[in-house]
Amino acid sequence: MAPISKETDFLVIGGGSGGLACARMASSRFGVKAMIIEGKRLGGTCVPKKVTFNAAAIAETIHHAKAYGFSIQETAPFDWPAFKNKRDAYIKRLNGIYERNLEKDGVEYVHGWGKLLSKNEVEVTTDDGSNDGFFDIDKLPGKVAIVGAGYIAVEFAGMFHSLGTETHLFIRHDTFLRHFDPMIQETVVKEYQRLGVKLHQKSQVSKVEKDEATGKLTITYKDASGGETTVSDVDHLIWAIGRKPATADVGLEKAGVKLNDAGYVVVDEYENSSVDGIYALGDISGKIELTPVAIAAGRRLSERLFGGEQFSTTRLEYENVPSVVFAHPEVGSIGLTEPEAIEKYGKENIKVYKTSFTAMYYAMMEPEDKGPTNYKLVVAGPEEKVVGLHIMGLGSGEMLQGFGVAIRMGATKKDFDRCVAIHPTSAEEIVTLK
Ligand code: NDP
Repeated sequence: MAPISKETDFLVIGGGSGGLACARMASSRFGVKAMIIEGKRLGGTCVPKKVTFNAAAIAETIHHAKAYGFSIQETAPFDWPAFKNKRDAYIKRLNGIYERNLEKDGVEYVHGWGKLLSKNEVEVTTDDGSNDGFFDIDKLPGKVAIVGAGYIAVEFAGMFHSLGTETHLFIRHDTFLRHFDPMIQETVVKEYQRLGVKLHQKSQVSKVEKDEATGKLTITYKDASGGETTVSDVDHLIWAIGRKPATADVGLEKAGVKLNDAGYVVVDEYENSSVDGIYALGDISGKIELTPVAIAAGRRLSERLFGGEQFSTTRLEYENVPSVVFAHPEVGSIGLTEPEAIEKYGKENIKVYKTSFTAMYYAMMEPEDKGPTNYKLVVAGPEEKVVGLHIMGLGSGEMLQGFGVAIRMGATKKDFDRCVAIHPTSAEEIVTLK
């Protein structure tokens, strides 16, 4: 087929959340002729992950229901194939909505992989042979092995375990989520071990063998003592050791765009790359790899580029970004960890308020079914400005957003204290810390 040539005024390569937000705003709000190129499906993997997390949370609720007087047959199997079909259909519907939104907003969508030929010219090729690993698993695995210590490893391990899969998590150090406050690291690690996730600390996977007849894997790893151990009969091995930016074959060097040693596009605080007229945001710029961060950065960039004088200094501020790990239990974090606050302000200028308790939800349960709740507020200076909030326990994912608004507004500990508690909740403990 002869190549087709098209022109546009604003071209977005990559239909992740940031690209979609940026292109749609440019076109719908500012009337810019915009086009977006994406080789996989539009949107990311947060939604199917959260749907799976919900299934895992329901499995936990079914287990807890007995303590509240329900007769529950816990051996009822989880129908993974039926669940997967429904989840796939939902994601297909969502992808359709994303496509229709682009159409509605007047953004032209081109399916394929974009490669820069020069600063103003991009070639598009198609290749549909990609998949998303975890989301293609079509039956509930008996045993999984996960390598990694970040959001994905911890979330997947928690979900599999709650759904009844024997779950092995291999981490390089003593704890996971090492970018989070030490309180979070220690309590979530302890909780995973208590729940029965098989955590292999200070381990390193050295060999993976597949039995061709059964398709099962045997994983050999160096353990904490330096000796070699194996885990056999593993259905799936998931590597969740961080992502690499897909900047290698995009022709960026041809256009003169600078990358750092790790392959991320070097940008300034306004998302400008080293080449005039080329911008980068979202995961590819390596700042904070979170969907809502990419969306916010995309919208701010559109405003700055096309919104006229009033938006000439608009940019995303990357401080105090709240984030949640859908672990078991959920983790929420905003601002500085205690060690980061000490480094920034000095130990003598930092005060920490903490609490740990058992949420009322667990009052009816046996000790082995009771999960922990831990909150830590980090404040700085004589005015006790809140510079960090770290929470783990039931409902933390929904709880953090509102506190995030207060913290972005510069709230102090006194402001937290002045807010009357909502009783009986777990969140009330955050405004009654002593
Ligand atoms: P992360 O960057 O969060 O974590 C990866 C971790 O794996 C590293 O921090 C490291 O921890 C460990 N690791 C690195 N190399 C190895 C290795 N060779 N062997 C064993 N462990 C290794 O990446 P993820 O893959 O978890 O997630 C990718 C991105 O997706 C994240 O940046 C996150 O922001 C985003 N995400 C966000 C979610 C949310 O907001 N809820 C959910 C899912 C993803 P250590 O140094 O301790 O070994």
